[in-house]
Amino acid sequence: MIQTLKYWLGINLNCKEAHQFLTDYVENALDEDLKWRFEQHMRLCRNCRVYLAQYKAVIALLHDTAPPKPQPELVAHTLSFLKNELNKPTS
Ligand SMILES: [Zn+2]
Repeated sequence: MIQTLKYWLGINLNCKEAHQFLTDYVENALDEDLKWRFEQHMRLCRNCRVYLAQYKAVIALLHDTAPPKPQPELVAHTLSFLKNELNKPTS
């Protein structure tokens, strides 16, 4: 009875199943039915909501982290070194 009610309400995803769809949900790659069922689970499951929020925070952090730019002097020195190396006569 409970399982049938849960299915009718679209909340038949358990936590393990919901976690399998986490990446697809964040990338908006779930079909409408699965997306709805995933969101229903998130509404009812605090642990998964926290997990989803942390997952999104990590993704955002990774997108905001650009590699540091090298100092212009280092770039100039490296290019100069490479030009010299490439122009050296081969023995
Ligand atoms: Zn859950």
